[in-house]
Amino acid sequence: MADYEAVIGLETHIQLNTVSKIFCGCKTDSWQDPPNTNICPVCTGLPGALPALNQAVVEKAVLLAAAVHAEEIRPRSYFARKNYFYPDLPKGYQISQYDEPLARGGFFDLPLPGGQLRRVTIPKLHVEEDAGKTLHRGDRRLIDFNRCGVPLVEMVTGPDLRSADEVAQYLIRLRQLLRWLGISDADMERGQLRCDANVSIRLAGQDHLNPKTEIKNVNSITNVRDAVQAEIERQIREVEAGRPIETWTLDWDEERQALSKMRAKETESDYRYFREPDLLPIVLGSEWQARILQALPELPLERRRRFIEKYSLPDYDAEILTEERSLSEYFEQAVGSFSGEPKTVSNWLMNDVLRLIRERGTAAGVLQLTPGHLARIIEMVSSRQITASTGKDLLEQVETSGRAPEDLVKEQGLAQLSDEASLRELARGVLQSNPQQVDLYRGGKTTLLGWFVGQLMRETGGQADPQLARQVLQDLLEE
Ligand SMILES: [Zn+2]
Repeated sequence: MADYEAVIGLETHIQLNTVSKIFCGCKTDSWQDPPNTNICPVCTGLPGALPALNQAVVEKAVLLAAAVHAEEIRPRSYFARKNYFYPDLPKGYQISQYDEPLARGGFFDLPLPGGQLRRVTIPKLHVEEDAGKTLHRGDRRLIDFNRCGVPLVEMVTGPDLRSADEVAQYLIRLRQLLRWLGISDADMERGQLRCDANVSIRLAGQDHLNPKTEIKNVNSITNVRDAVQAEIERQIREVEAGRPIETWTLDWDEERQALSKMRAKETESDYRYFREPDLLPIVLGSEWQARILQALPELPLERRRRFIEKYSLPDYDAEILTEERSLSEYFEQAVGSFSGEPKTVSNWLMNDVLRLIRERGTAAGVLQLTPGHLARIIEMVSSRQITASTGKDLLEQVETSGRAPEDLVKEQGLAQLSDEASLRELARGVLQSNPQQVDLYRGGKTTLLGWFVGQLMRETGGQADPQLARQVLQDLLEE
């Protein structure tokens, strides 16, 4: 069989996490609400109702455009009507942007296994409103308008992805970026990040584009990967059998793990776009833009690279610590108030603190255990003031109580017994109450030393410095 390569472009719809919808004051987040409760004349398209643009939508979209390095964040962009008839679109059109979008000419670098980068181009990014939802219950169709007017960013990539795994990687990294910027919760299961994939194949080494199919309605990263993989394999089978690829729109059936044909693909002319007459253009003055961009943080990949260079962290650590923005900030703050090596902080964070975060279903940014507390606990362990296991218990205690670790140590007498004189005193007591074992040891059974250490540890409630305990006992037994 000939050697084929896949050519994939993605069209993503990102639900912005603004408080209110794009053109009215209704609540955006209806996840917990009954159907048709967050609606008004504007978002249900009643005659005479006029839309008014939500400024926060523009601000969040501009942040995303800057984060994907848009060449052009346009000082003036326009809304257009995209006309189509569908039961969950009460106006009969969607307010979108078309020929004059908010931003153009960006890219998103995707780290691939093996250290290479795949540059994914983003020719265009625009804002628009969402449509409602149709639910099928037996032979009835139920319509929920809560989602009408929810703000979306549509971001389209060039045909730059080359495999189903790269598609999955793109979505994982995009989700990370959206959460990092704080502009979307990006939960695919809740429809906050949606993805249609355009798939075609060609012989490896060629550079023209063949007819493509579009896969729609896939609601998890795993499903997108499976659907794209199935479609690549189907197209190869068709081409090998001498049949042409037709430009279908395909639907992924999760249960059957199979694609089915929905309809022949619409073309742009079916939508009869024209300029939205009820809205002014978005005028993005340079002052407003500058103010928005002040909130643009260092991006995940840059931060990851910096962590490797500045703190001498392994790739693996840097990747985990920059998976989520508040965790990466927590790490830097803890390193800033810690006197030892950054790698030590990284170990504690990746093992014990991350476990605590997961168990409690919280995020690094809202822990009661502050970065400063963590640094103090690690320092007390490193200087052998407390044992490592006391240190781990302290993480939990500080998180629960919000109190300073030093105070808890003092109050509960958790400090490790590392004062040699008092340890020697206790060790004498242990020898005196076990004369038989002392005789055995002195008669040559020196393996009993471990048993004596155990007795002394018990005597001190586990607080003795184990190395010092061993030394003191050995000295006394060999006196
Ligand atoms: Zn409304």
